[in-house]
Amino acid sequence: MDFQKILNDIYAATKDSSEKGTVATYIPELAKVSGDKLGMFLLDAEQNVYSVGDTSERFSIQSISKVIALAQAFDLVGNTLWKRVDVEPSGNPFNFLSLLEQENGIPRNPLINAGALVISDILISNLKDPKADFLSYVRGLADDPSIDYDEAVARSESETGFRNRATANLLKSFGNIENDVEEVLDFYFHQCSVAMSCEQLAKTFYVFCNRGKCTKQSEYLTLSQVKRINAIMLTCGFYDEAGEFAFEVGLPGKSGVGGGIIAVLPDHFSVAVWAPGLNEKGNSLLGMQMLEQFTTQTNLSIF
Ligand code: GLN
Repeated sequence: MDFQKILNDIYAATKDSSEKGTVATYIPELAKVSGDKLGMFLLDAEQNVYSVGDTSERFSIQSISKVIALAQAFDLVGNTLWKRVDVEPSGNPFNFLSLLEQENGIPRNPLINAGALVISDILISNLKDPKADFLSYVRGLADDPSIDYDEAVARSESETGFRNRATANLLKSFGNIENDVEEVLDFYFHQCSVAMSCEQLAKTFYVFCNRGKCTKQSEYLTLSQVKRINAIMLTCGFYDEAGEFAFEVGLPGKSGVGGGIIAVLPDHFSVAVWAPGLNEKGNSLLGMQMLEQFTTQTNLSIF
């Protein structure tokens, strides 16, 4: 299959779309990004690479980081994790609060904000130097020491993160946060601020395509852990649009409000797209379209 031609065709068909969605503004720093950026990067199981558009420029990975934090926490504490966070799709927006109150402070899953805040708390309790150790984990997975936090994005979110503050405090009131709430939020905002290109993202997520081993073949996760994380990505990776993503694209994946989406087909490829304009559910509008075209044209999906 000529992946490069398929990517080129998808890019050409998408580039001039009049409907590009809206760049996130609720984190003021993200509003500075041009809505015209567009890129797609594919890394296949044999580590051949295919690329089109803006694939080496870094952007804020935002909620995509939740999968990496989940992987590190799962590796550190194993299945005890599931006592503090569930694995059911929420059918609600990423920052929804009411369900948390109804369900006694146990977040529906680790990929909504409430769940990710619990994961942040677990990492803080189990790492010596949480921010440095998380960053090393990401750099190791990506085999790229240049990956870093974007301090301006972290600060910008901290200054406006009232809803995440409310969520963290609600979790604390239910006893599902062990550490200081501000420390948990600071870690969470930093984790979300990690900047990566499509190329770096596809390499980082190769571990979920390659049965728990990174591009250097070091083992990060067991096969069972990879199965579980991929299942959570499929059912919860797109919030109240998880059904739509499975329906249109048919791959485990994760979006972020920076406009990135990562998706994997186990044993076949990991693919990253970036288009900063979001749809009304907070997922990259053109990114979803490009991935839908990719799995439709290649007939490669988990279904
Ligand atoms: N940091 C963002 C927030 O908590 C992440 C949201 C997202 O990417 N969906 O609001």
